[in-house]
Amino acid sequence: MKAREWERRSRRRLAQRSKKMQRHYDEQRIPAVRAAVGDGRRPCAIVSPICTRYVEGLHEVLTRGRGGGLRAVDTEANRVPCCHACNQYVSLHPAWAHELGWLKHAWEDT
Ligand SMILES: [Zn+2]
Repeated sequence: MKAREWERRSRRRLAQRSKKMQRHYDEQRIPAVRAAVGDGRRPCAIVSPICTRYVEGLHEVLTRGRGGGLRAVDTEANRVPCCHACNQYVSLHPAWAHELGWLKHAWEDT
């Protein structure tokens, strides 16, 4: 049965993440975030104008969308421990983030 037909028949959506991506989350991403958050009292590294102070997750300097690929985003140097607000701020203000080094293009050195 083709995927689309399965979706239609079962009235369910296929999983958003591929198996490869799910494995990446289970083995790399989730443990890395957990380690970064720690006791929830670690200071945010970005400190944008809307910062909520404490690390809640990881921002990726070189994102998959910018050509990082799974392997590139898995490196320690690529991960910035920060709060959710800052992570969002970086996404909404790419020029600001790029200037401060929180965002990089694939062709730049990390
Ligand atoms: Zn912050």
